[in-house]
Amino acid sequence: MSLNDAPKMQIPSLLHKLGKMTSIRDTALLEQSLLKTLCPMLGVLDASLYRVDDLTSAVRVLHHHLSRVVESDGIARLVERNEEIYNEANIDPEIKGMLQNVRLLGKPCTRKSSQTQDLLIAYPLFGGREICGVLVFARDREVTLTEDAIVKGVLEVYANYYDLLDISQRDRLTGLLNRQALENSFDRIWTILSRTDEPVRSPDGRRVQAASTHWIAIIDVDHFKNVNDNFGHVVGDEVLLLISRLMMAEMRGSDLLFRYGGEEFVVLFSAKDCEDATAILERLRGAVERHGFPQVGQVTVSIGLSMADPNDLPQEVLSWADRALYQAKKTGRNRVCDYQSLRQRGEVEAPSYGGSELF
Ligand code: GH3
Ligand code: MG
Ligand code: MG
Repeated sequence: MSLNDAPKMQIPSLLHKLGKMTSIRDTALLEQSLLKTLCPMLGVLDASLYRVDDLTSAVRVLHHHLSRVVESDGIARLVERNEEIYNEANIDPEIKGMLQNVRLLGKPCTRKSSQTQDLLIAYPLFGGREICGVLVFARDREVTLTEDAIVKGVLEVYANYYDLLDISQRDRLTGLLNRQALENSFDRIWTILSRTDEPVRSPDGRRVQAASTHWIAIIDVDHFKNVNDNFGHVVGDEVLLLISRLMMAEMRGSDLLFRYGGEEFVVLFSAKDCEDATAILERLRGAVERHGFPQVGQVTVSIGLSMADPNDLPQEVLSWADRALYQAKKTGRNRVCDYQSLRQRGEVEAPSYGGSELF
């Protein structure tokens, strides 16, 4: 089979895109780049990447859409849009069925769409030997053998590179994202926050529902040094691992969890208001307090919370959460304190920005 079968596929351009793809240092950007590389190559305007996250067992969908827009001067251009959807309930049952088949068979599947005349085509994405995602696109014709070989090749390069990046972004003990990952993605996270914080309005322009606000919390294990001193490092590590699992169980799949340092974790999550955010963290604090840790028994955590307003610098917000954590430690530990309430009550001085120094 010669590459001449697919004259539309320009190999130099594909290699150039692969080169660009592997210069990326962030897994989320890499996913977008994969879809951007494959869509034009396959001549499709839409493609979705369904990712199954082992750690949270949540399905995350990245949808890439290219629209052809003709301007008033007659010039046509392609407009790109990327969306991330975290809710499995939003997946079309027809697509759900395909995902299941691809996962069971471990190879590409094609079926006729019941809604359009197009074919739905799905390719598995491997992480090691396991299927960790599925690429889905709709097209009016089947993929040729050459296209099939190229898509598989691109997916293989992508998957290998994704694994390498993913390992460097994760903490070895808990599998959570590490501090480097947080620092590398702060700017991107902040851009996303600034896009999603518009209030929801009714058609007559009245504000009907406050937009969901974002929050950053720092969670620090109380008197963790004693755990190590009394039971040894191996037991200490087990406590950290169990706490990370309790965090994953209590927070939603869409929340971002990081192991920020030795016995410190950072959570970035959304909540309606401060009361709601505090209630979520109180639930987590209570879950740790009630958990029976092997040998150690009871372990508690202190939590500092700050609102993550995209107009403030991310490092500044983190330092406020740290200030609130300091207050939680100072006032007895095993509690949640939020920076904005402390400010209102005059219990902390006006913010002074300096790199955050955690416990
Ligand atoms: P506080 O309530 O004030 O936070 O007290 P603390 O003892 O938790 O805080 P401190 O900062 O004094 O001690 C943190 C300890 O965490 C010291 C360090 O040995 C331990 N630690 C850091 N990373 C790890 C790790 O990966 N595994 C284990 N087992 N221990 C760790
Ligand atoms: Mg501590
Ligand atoms: Mg600490």
